[in-house]
Amino acid sequence: MDFKDMIRVIPDFPQAGISFKDITTLLKDGEGYRQAINELKALVAHLKIDVIAGPEARGFVVGAPLAYALGVGFVPIRKSGKLPYETIEVGYDLEYGKDTLAVHTDAIQPGQKVLIADDLLATGGTIATSVRLVEQLGGVVVGAAFLIELVQLHGRNKLSGIEVLSLLNYE
Ligand code: IMP
Repeated sequence: MDFKDMIRVIPDFPQAGISFKDITTLLKDGEGYRQAINELKALVAHLKIDVIAGPEARGFVVGAPLAYALGVGFVPIRKSGKLPYETIEVGYDLEYGKDTLAVHTDAIQPGQKVLIADDLLATGGTIATSVRLVEQLGGVVVGAAFLIELVQLHGRNKLSGIEVLSLLNYE
């Protein structure tokens, strides 16, 4: 299945110079969405995973079905102020803008093996921040999985020591 045919590219969104990869056109295709998650599942099959963590919002769309398919739990990483229980927070720079991510303090147990999942790896800021949150809770990040990697932004350099697995590469 050629997933790139199902991903819409929007020039200059959300600001000039960004070529936005719109996965909504893949998600609305039932067979495409299922196949993409199945292929991601195959890509991470060699990893021992206790739980998947994904940053809002598109990290949920990838991480939650992957967790379901693997039979492991899912931990939401959210923007500051959204989670109801005690949290830890880490601030970061985005490809466009700044933000703070948070996770519940009891979401991950020390020593748990964690796969981080998101729709897209750009500069790596979001995932590096997610890694810091997981590690602050004592989790061990065993890998990071994406539908899309924007290879020219070298996000994987921010994730040294972590296995990075992507279904699709864009220049
Ligand atoms: P990074 O932190 O620079 O790696 O940016 C990755 C985050 O920004 C992910 O959570 C993506 O959902 C979002 N993002 C950045 N660029 C794009 C894009 O072109 N399409 C879809 N999402 C994007």
